[in-house]
Amino acid sequence: MVKEAMLYEKLPARRAHCHICQRDCIIKDERKGYCKTRKNRGGRLYTLIYGEVSTWRRAPIEIKPVYHYLPGSSAFSLGSVGCNFLCPGCQNWEISFAREEQISVHTEYIAPEKAVKMAKEQHCQGISWTYNEPALWLEYILDTARLAKLQGLYTNIVTNGSLSPEALDALGPYLDVYRLDIKGFSQEAYREIAHFSSWEGILAVASRAKHHWKMHVEVVTNVIPDYNDDLEQLGRLAAWIKTELGAQTPWHITRFSPRWRLSHLESTPVRTLELARQRALSEGLEFVYLGNVRAHPASHTYCPGCGTRVIERNDWGQVVCGLRSDCCPACGTAIAGRFA
Ligand code: SF4
Repeated sequence: MVKEAMLYEKLPARRAHCHICQRDCIIKDERKGYCKTRKNRGGRLYTLIYGEVSTWRRAPIEIKPVYHYLPGSSAFSLGSVGCNFLCPGCQNWEISFAREEQISVHTEYIAPEKAVKMAKEQHCQGISWTYNEPALWLEYILDTARLAKLQGLYTNIVTNGSLSPEALDALGPYLDVYRLDIKGFSQEAYREIAHFSSWEGILAVASRAKHHWKMHVEVVTNVIPDYNDDLEQLGRLAAWIKTELGAQTPWHITRFSPRWRLSHLESTPVRTLELARQRALSEGLEFVYLGNVRAHPASHTYCPGCGTRVIERNDWGQVVCGLRSDCCPACGTAIAGRFA
C-alpha cells in the first residue's frame, strides 16, 4: 500500500528531504530515495511498502539472535522489501534489493490489526520486524507496535542501526528490543561492507536506544574474511560495547558463509571467531556468543560470577534449559536481560 511518509520536509522545487534514516536523501519529484521504497510525487513523499509483507513466520527469538530476552519465546517475524545498505554478502538480497515494480511480486498486504491477530493466533509472545531493514517500514511498524503493546506482546527490531534519531524516538515508546548489527569499527569498514558513510551515527543511535529509551540491546557482528576480521578492530568494537552499552550487553560474533557477490570467499575459520571472542572477553564483555557454528560451547550462557552454564541452547540456538530469574541459581550474580 502507498501511504504518505512520516519524517520528511518539503523543499523548494517539489523536492523532499527524508529523515527516516541516516542516508538523509533529498529526493526530486518523481524520483525515489536510495532505498527505492520512498517516492516523491509532486513534492510529497510516499512509502511504497506500507503493510507489504514479503515474509512472515513464527520463529524462536534466539534465531534473531536475541539470547537475553525471554529465551525460549516465539516472535511473529515479518519483513518487507528494500534496504538502505548495499552489502555484497547480503543473505536476503532478493527482497533487500527489490525494485518498485517487483514489490507486488514479492509481497502481500497484511494490515497492522491482522498482523497482531496472526501473532496471537500463532501463540507468539512478541513481534519481530526483520529480514529487510525495518527503518524503511517505520510507518507500518509504528501502527503495528502500538497495537501489539495493547495486546501484551513484546516488540523487537532487527536493524542495521542506520535509522535516524527521529525515527528511533518515534518507535521508542513502543519498542522493547533493539537487535543491532555493527559491521565493523571504522568508516572504511562500513564503506567497504555496506557502502554507508555514517558509522558513528549508528553508534550514537544505539546508545540512545539503550540509555534514553531503556531498550534491551544485543549486538551482532558477522565476521567476513579480509573485510572485518582484524582482531585489533574487533577489540576496539568490544571495548566500545562495554563502555557505551554495558559489560553485560550480549555480543554475537557470527560466521560468514559465502553468498551473492561474496560467493568467492571461504567461510570464516572458526579459530578466527574464537580469537575474536577471547579478545572481547579480555576487554571485559561478559556475554560473547559465537553464531553459525555447530555444537560450539560459546552458544550457551555462562554466569560471569561462577562460570555455571545457566542457559543451554541447541544447534539452532533454541533453549534446552534456561533461567527463571535474572540471577544465577548457583551464586546469585545478576544477569542482564529479561528471563521471566
Ligand atoms: S529511508 Fe533512508 S534511504 Fe530511504 S529515502 Fe529515506 S533517507 Fe533515503
